Amino acid sequence: MHKHKLLGNFTQTFAGRVSNDAYVLGSSSGGLTSWLLSKLVQLGIVDGVINVGAAGEDAQEIFRYSVATESELRNRRKSQYYATTMADVLELIKDEPKRYVLVGVPCYIKAARAMCKEDPKIAQRLVFFVALVCGHMKTQAYAESLAWQVGVPPHDLEAVDFRVKGKGRLSSDYDFGALKRGETEMRVAPMSTLQGGNWGHNTFQPEACNFCDDVVGETADISFGDAWLAKFTSDPRGTNIVISRNRRIDEIFACAADANEITLHEVSADEAVASQAGGFRHRRDGLAVRLADDIAAGLSVPVKRVSPNVNAVDKQRANLFRQRRRIAKVSQELFYDAVLHGDLRVYLKGLKREIVRYERLESFRVRMRRALRPVKLFLNRIRLAK
Ligand SMILES: Cc1cc2nc3c(=O)[nH]c(=O)nc-3n(C[C@H](O)[C@H](O)[C@H](O)COP(=O)(O)OP(=O)(O)OC[C@H]3O[C@@H](n4cnc5c(N)ncnc54)[C@H](O)[C@@H]3O)c2cc1C
Repeated sequence: MHKHKLLGNFTQTFAGRVSNDAYVLGSSSGGLTSWLLSKLVQLGIVDGVINVGAAGEDAQEIFRYSVATESELRNRRKSQYYATTMADVLELIKDEPKRYVLVGVPCYIKAARAMCKEDPKIAQRLVFFVALVCGHMKTQAYAESLAWQVGVPPHDLEAVDFRVKGKGRLSSDYDFGALKRGETEMRVAPMSTLQGGNWGHNTFQPEACNFCDDVVGETADISFGDAWLAKFTSDPRGTNIVISRNRRIDEIFACAADANEITLHEVSADEAVASQAGGFRHRRDGLAVRLADDIAAGLSVPVKRVSPNVNAVDKQRANLFRQRRRIAKVSQELFYDAVLHGDLRVYLKGLKREIVRYERLESFRVRMRRALRPVKLFLNRIRLAK
């Protein structure tokens, strides 16, 4: 086992995707997460999978945690940027003597590991842990805010797809889709055209994420994310970054790669970190600033691996971290007001103001990159169409 101060312990890091292109199209990234879950069931290593999928027609929420059988796994793919609880499903599995793999973002996996220490029954049930790399969680209003922008108001929202892949586009250039009650086709728009859709702005981020220092899910057997590295984003199919901490899983990957079921690429630990550079900056330097700010404001803060330090970064970057925290809070207040008044413009107008403030704090290099992004996307569409 290797040790890395940002990735935790790991046996290996690599990138890859499922070799069947039609399958990958229905996944968020390279499809390796859902592929591994199926494999674990097929090989009899677990009896079932606990993950987040569509909540069903009668439910108030759009997504929820539940047990998926192998046949259901294919329809429970993609990333659900949506706050859910695993309290109900963990209660449910206690009584049946089965073994499960749990999928979740880092804080859910850490919480489940902690529960296993306290509750021997849960420890017998949860035998594998799969983490999704996480920039931050989103409250349920995030889905509603995007859906409303494509013409589906919250009370009419039936389903969303946060990651609709486009042919001949960068893997980071994806669409958002929302299904209106009574309609059969999703209304779709490029994520880059929707306000609040930029992950760097931290809209609808719960306050708890401001104190998180685990980007990759260090307590999981294996972690999957997007390989946000230029050499992979140019492939529209999507590519996973993978951080493994389990030799048995490593063997499963090696066998499947030999059989050409999946395609793997060597990636160093440093490249894995680079693929999540923004996330690590926000959770380490940003965390140091947030802890220092809260202490200065007379608040109590949790003990983290990062020490409070208001000078962890220069003043401009510190203010950028602060503006993200402000957007996380203000976006939720603005959207609440918009719903109350039945007027999306209340949210859009207020958020625009906050984003302009944020963009003024960005470095010259980032501002240039942002200004040139539409040109870059356009040129890539031409290149990939050839
Ligand atoms: C809130 C959130 C934030 C993320 N932030 C980042 C990030 O900053 N950087 C990055 O590289 N990747 C991030 N990811 C992970 C990324 O979006 C993909 O989920 C990941 O790369 C796996 O893609 P895949 O194609 O292998 O998965 P798929 O083959 O599409 O399968 C996804 C599996 O994950 C399960 N799942 C989806 N959402 C959830 C959820 N919320 N809780 C539990 N299970 C779930 C599905 O049920 C399915 O089994 C984030 C994911 C989430 C949910």
